[in-house]
Amino acid sequence: MLALRTKYRTFFQLFGAGDKAPQVVHRPIILKPLGGSGVQWRPGGLGSGVSRAGLCDVKDEFMSQSAKPTTTWAEIKPSRRVVVSEGLWLRCPGCSALIYRKQMEANLSCCPECQHHFRVGATERLEQLLDQDTFEAMFTGLRPNDPLGFKDLKTYAERLKSEQAKSGELDACKAGVGFIKGRQLMVAVLDLDFMMGSMGSVVGEVVTRAIEGAQARGLPLLIVSGSGGARMQEAGLSLMQMAKTSAALARYQRGGGLFISLLTDPTTGGVTASFAMLGDIILAEPKALVGFAGPRVIAQTIRQELPEGFQRSEYLLKAGMVDRIVPRAQLRNEIARLIDYAG
Ligand SMILES: [Zn+2]
Repeated sequence: MLALRTKYRTFFQLFGAGDKAPQVVHRPIILKPLGGSGVQWRPGGLGSGVSRAGLCDVKDEFMSQSAKPTTTWAEIKPSRRVVVSEGLWLRCPGCSALIYRKQMEANLSCCPECQHHFRVGATERLEQLLDQDTFEAMFTGLRPNDPLGFKDLKTYAERLKSEQAKSGELDACKAGVGFIKGRQLMVAVLDLDFMMGSMGSVVGEVVTRAIEGAQARGLPLLIVSGSGGARMQEAGLSLMQMAKTSAALARYQRGGGLFISLLTDPTTGGVTASFAMLGDIILAEPKALVGFAGPRVIAQTIRQELPEGFQRSEYLLKAGMVDRIVPRAQLRNEIARLIDYAG
């Protein structure tokens, strides 16, 4: 393994710690002035003659936030997503050019002008990477359960049903054997089209079986990560997948297996904190977001401006967390070359 120990040492320095908790809800503190006149004061609404620090020990950011109306959980909206419209033309988020969708798709879903790499689901990824008609799906038929009866805006059961109907898949990972330029390998791909590739019990199990299957067959292993992290709807059960997949990889690598990890945009949370960063060779697509906690969470926690390109592949390459950045068009060549080199 390439400098894994160094990677672990720098892991939390680079990614920071913490989870993706929603923004803290600040409630105003009601203060009564001396004399008990019954007037209610908010920390953010104090007059200029009154010392804030003298009344309560809160920081300025709290002051400004608490002056706003109190936010409730129901009002918290997810951050704006880049929605790729379904029309014939679309606007490239990389160069803002108006590009023809078919031309972009024919270019491995990269912008023909600036080579911005659009996100792709597992099916398209397998088509791009493997030799034509060589993929043989394995470990299918595993269905996610809802052991916690989880409910956020809608129940987990409802969410699963709609995701399954939309994608035609049971969960967020496809795995099996296939060939790249004539070299046989075991491949597992996290599916961004299914709950953002999040890792619950099924994803963890499919990845583990793929690792064990590669070991049993003596095949190299490629895992393509693209994930929002551990699936919160399965809580602790999702987190257990981190240990399970890492342990399976340790056994595989002790047996001399080659594991190539490919990081795509975005690879975050529990996936980054487990198998995605355990590759013998770690490849990344250009400008992919790779991190543990998101940049906004880190910036809020450490209260510092983050450097340019923070948590992008190029930044991680400089920091020694990624071995090579490979444009999508060169992935097949590069992976075949690595398999030859290690085999
Ligand atoms: Zn572009």
